[in-house]
Amino acid sequence: MNRDITQMLISKLSGLTLSTDTGKFLADKSYGFDTMFFACRFIQRFRFGDVYKKLELQEKSNAYIKDLFCLRTASQIQNYFTEAVALLVFCGVLRKTSKRGVYEIIDDELLDFISSSFENAYIFQYMLCYCVFVHDGIWDKYKEFCKAQTLAHKQGIYLQIREIFIEKDNRVIDPTRKWANFVPKYPMVVLNYANHQNMISRTTIVQTRDVKIEDISLNTEGTRANMDLPKKNAYLHDFSDSYVTETLRPYLITPASKYDTISYSDSFSIDVADTKLDMLDDDGRTSDMKEKILKGKYKISARGVQTRTVQGEFRSALFVKTPHKCPVCGFDFKNLLIASHIKPYSKCEDTYDAMNPNNGLLMCPICDKLFEHANYITIDYKTGNVIYDTNIEDEKSLQYLHDCTVSYDYIDGERRHYLKWHNETFYEKHSHMTKE
Ligand SMILES: [Zn+2]
Repeated sequence: MNRDITQMLISKLSGLTLSTDTGKFLADKSYGFDTMFFACRFIQRFRFGDVYKKLELQEKSNAYIKDLFCLRTASQIQNYFTEAVALLVFCGVLRKTSKRGVYEIIDDELLDFISSSFENAYIFQYMLCYCVFVHDGIWDKYKEFCKAQTLAHKQGIYLQIREIFIEKDNRVIDPTRKWANFVPKYPMVVLNYANHQNMISRTTIVQTRDVKIEDISLNTEGTRANMDLPKKNAYLHDFSDSYVTETLRPYLITPASKYDTISYSDSFSIDVADTKLDMLDDDGRTSDMKEKILKGKYKISARGVQTRTVQGEFRSALFVKTPHKCPVCGFDFKNLLIASHIKPYSKCEDTYDAMNPNNGLLMCPICDKLFEHANYITIDYKTGNVIYDTNIEDEKSLQYLHDCTVSYDYIDGERRHYLKWHNETFYEKHSHMTKE
């Protein structure tokens, strides 16, 4: 089956060369496998028959990219989509029409393939680089690069590859321009990931370390407003090396260890993209849909992908991440534990917040109700102390809340960020109480 995938890609991509003058080969946004996956999924969702109206959908695609890539400023946002579309034109997935900003979708199979998983988006990019390199006579040079034993030797071969790019790449009109220097960096980094080869910097220096998954994914680090927490997207941990390696094996230069079983799960990446796409859907369903997701009743169905419940995914992620008992009272009958969002779905700023198991706790039905919307209780993000509304102090059945402290396991790392929000909301609602 994997043989069929690479054969399909070769049959579609083998005519391409650096001098193909429709669209653009890999650039500094489109070489990210996540950029291509997210862009293709967006196009699939908002296509109009066989037409994609890029200009008309610009506001929507900007909002999508801004959210998924955790961008703050507007300046870069457009590039992600523009470069992804330019690459799709290069590969013959899209074709420009006479109308400005309107594209015809001419290769559904390839578009489906790229948008079906992050791994496939990477496999597509690897095979694209392979085809272009073979066509332009660079593949043998690339083999030499991989087999070279010293860094100095690799550097020398890389510079020879750069010369070929400068001569053949239709984008390089003036080779003295600084950016002309690093056009070969992008395909080399893509190929180097699966071949366990070295990272190449924008200053075209072959570095000592190998290309990591973070280097070929553009959405890895973001910033958080309140606390200095690193934002690593969970889909990087789900990326299946076994699937990628076994699919690409005949085209790898560096021998890779044999995987006996291929483990492969696409649920997180697809849920992240589709949850956001649903939120962007324009027909007035947005708030209603959020409500349904909150209640766990909404099911997402996507092209060629099995149906799943967002709330269900969130709950199973929590079961993996946290102990199976209510942190407040210790209730541990699994079937009745509820996946409570700390910051409710309706208040989440972005998809990352909504899907993040660190934005959740498994609670018993009673504590869930008390904790919901910070109505009666909150958990101090620094100490783990349960803080309750003084108005319920005398309630007999709630005495267990007095002097109750949640174990540190529940308030570590990123969860503190969400609990801090919950604390602030609690004090806003209970203005008769003062923060100690
Ligand atoms: Zn409880």
